[in-house]
Amino acid sequence: MSVTQQQVLDSLAKIKSPRGVALTNANVLSAISAADGKVFFSINVDAAEARAWESVRAEAEDAVRAIPGVTTAMVALTAERKPGSAPPPPQPSRGTPGVQPAHAHKPPQGGGSPMARQSEIPGVAAVIAVASGKGGVGKSTTALNLALGLRDLGLKVGLLDADIYGPSVPRLTGLHEKPKLDGERKMIPLRRFGLAIMSIGFLVEEETAMIWRGPMVMSAVTQMLRDVAWGTLDVLVVDMPPGTGDAQLTLAQNVPLKGAVIVSTPQDLSLIDARRGLAMFRKVNVPVLGIVENMSYFQCPHCGTKSDIFGHGGARHEAEKLGVPFLGEIPLHMAIRATSDAGNPVVDSEPDGPHAAIYRAIAGQVRDQLKGVIAAA
Ligand code: ADP
Repeated sequence: MSVTQQQVLDSLAKIKSPRGVALTNANVLSAISAADGKVFFSINVDAAEARAWESVRAEAEDAVRAIPGVTTAMVALTAERKPGSAPPPPQPSRGTPGVQPAHAHKPPQGGGSPMARQSEIPGVAAVIAVASGKGGVGKSTTALNLALGLRDLGLKVGLLDADIYGPSVPRLTGLHEKPKLDGERKMIPLRRFGLAIMSIGFLVEEETAMIWRGPMVMSAVTQMLRDVAWGTLDVLVVDMPPGTGDAQLTLAQNVPLKGAVIVSTPQDLSLIDARRGLAMFRKVNVPVLGIVENMSYFQCPHCGTKSDIFGHGGARHEAEKLGVPFLGEIPLHMAIRATSDAGNPVVDSEPDGPHAAIYRAIAGQVRDQLKGVIAAA
C-alpha cells in the first residue's frame, strides 16, 4: 500500500505545535518524502526553540508510523540559528559557529544538553570516522575494507554510512533492504560480511539524500547512531560525507569519535584537502589515527608492474610533516574497483590476495591505536 504526502499531512494536522497552531500551519515543515512506505521529512526551527520542539518531533514520528502502509518514518528536528537572531545557549566546551544541530532523539541523560549528544553509544566501544577532503578519492571503499580488515582481526564491527550526499554503502555491499524495527522501535542494522551495516541509503531515495542541508545531516546521523540497535561492537566505522565544511565539522564535533582516518590520493590538490580534514579533526579534539594514501600507484592487472602515475608517496611525506601516522598505501587496481562496485569488497572476496593484506595491515594499526579503548569496554 503506498502512502501519500496528503496522508502524512493529514496525520500531522492533528498535532499541536508550541506556536499554538497545528504543526502543518506552523511553517516549519520541509518537503515530505513518501515513497515505498518510507516517510522522511524535517521540522526546521530556530535554535532557541529546539528544546520545545523535541516532543513534537517524536509525536510526529509516532503519528506517521501509525499510518497504515508506513514501514519507516524518520523525522529530523533541525535547528538553525537565523542571521541576527539571539545566539544559542553557550556550549560547555565545543561550540559550532552558526549551526546548532538538533538534539538527539532520546537524549540519554542531561535532558538534551549539548554534551548529552556527545555521550557514548551503549555497547559500542569505539566510533571512528573515515573522512576525505573531497569526493571520489575512495573514502567509502576504504571505510568498508577497513571495517572488514578489523573484522578479520577478530573484532565486532559496524559500518555507518553517514555520507548523506551520496550514500554508497548500498552499492558497495549489494544491500538494498529496509531495516526492520525491534521491540523498542530501534532500527535493526542489516548484516553482511559479518558487519552490522546502516546507511541513509536504506531509508531514503538517492535524490532525497542529495538535497539535505548541513543541520539536517547532523540530525539524521544522530538518529542513525542512537536509534539503531547496534548491539555490542568493538568498533563502529563511520563513512563521513566528503569535505570539510560546516556539516562535516558539526558531525565531527557531535559524534562521540575516538579517532579519524583520513583518505587521500597522492595528487597535490587532494593532499591540501586532507590537510583541511586534519585541521578540522584537531579543532574538535578528535585524534587523527592516520592518513591512508589511496590510488597510490597503478598496478597493472596483467603484469603486476607498478607505475606512480600520480606521484606516489605524497601522503606519506605529508603525514610525516604533520606528525600523524601514515597507515598505508593502496594501489589503484582493477580488482579493487570491480569488487567494490559489484558489492563484493576485496577483503571479503579475495581474502588471500595482496589488497586484503594491505587493508588488514591498515586495520591492525587502527586497532593498535584503539586498543586501550576497546579493552576498557
Ligand atoms: P568516495 O567515497 O571517496 O567518493 P568511492 O569509495 O565511492 O569514493 O570510490 C570512487 C570510485 O573509485 C569507485 O568506483 C571505487 O570502486 C573506485 N576506487 C576506490 N578505491 C580504488 C582503488 N584503490 N583502486 C581502484 N578503484 C578504486
